[in-house]
Amino acid sequence: MSDPHAPTDASDPRATLRSIAARLHTRLEGEGRAGLTAVARTIPEAGATDAAGGSSEYPAAPAAGSNEAGSQVQVVVAPPALTPETVAATLKDDLAVQVPVATRTLDLFDFGSVPEETGVSREDALARIAAEVAACDRCRELAAGRTRTVPGQGDPYTKLVFIGEGPGEEEDRQGLAFVGRAGQLLTKMIEAIGLAREQVFICNIVKCRPPNNRAPMPDEESNCMPYLARQLEIIRPKVICALGATAAKFLLQTHDGIMRLRGRFYPYRGAQLMPTFHPAYVLRVYTPDTRKKVYDDLLKVRAAMDAAV
Ligand code: URA
Repeated sequence: MSDPHAPTDASDPRATLRSIAARLHTRLEGEGRAGLTAVARTIPEAGATDAAGGSSEYPAAPAAGSNEAGSQVQVVVAPPALTPETVAATLKDDLAVQVPVATRTLDLFDFGSVPEETGVSREDALARIAAEVAACDRCRELAAGRTRTVPGQGDPYTKLVFIGEGPGEEEDRQGLAFVGRAGQLLTKMIEAIGLAREQVFICNIVKCRPPNNRAPMPDEESNCMPYLARQLEIIRPKVICALGATAAKFLLQTHDGIMRLRGRFYPYRGAQLMPTFHPAYVLRVYTPDTRKKVYDDLLKVRAAMDAAV
């Protein structure tokens, strides 16, 4: 394969795009965000003003490249799960180029290394994020269909955060995470390890209800991730419990299923992340085996929490 960092031939748009994407990758890697995929694409004149701002399909890019050839170039950051073909098809641009990242880093920077904002309580910092979420319209379909946003709630000083997929009907009605049937089971799961709901923080990957309770789309997860990342940086949990395949796969950026992932810890930004079954799955498959597995996972969560300083 040719060196993507090599000087490019201005007459070869593919080479130019590959070079821009590669430079962005270098930057993402430098920032410890190597799990993402940078994609550079040419954009038509009409979309020129969007050159630095990402696209509606993908999160805003941290940097936009300039094209030596002089035409407008948009750089988007896409989840690694997407192939160049998918990206090209979605963007309707056959010049989309993906430069695969050789190394994967799930620990961006540890939560503990992010300086705490002085003079602002964690409560206020979380409330500020909740206000931003309430005004958010990054995902047009979700924003148009929601009753209330569901930022998450609980103890801002807890060591343990539960992260689900996205709000359901009841959550959308109340503006609170995990308050429907699955939420009632989650409460029991938390109590089974000797804690109360109020002692942990409970939230979701996406803060708006997807229509008909469908799983969030990759672009919706990416759009919402900055809110979750900031919540976690404020709370600085020692242990994170990812509830179900959607949360576990997105946070760990893996294609592995929940059956394979659950039951062990993965490093996540200085915390330990335990994937386990979603309570809605436990309700659906309410067998002694499922219940034992989820209980075993939660006992490990409790032990890790107690051991964490
Ligand atoms: N399912 C989720 O993933 N989250 C909720 O808040 C409720 C149901």
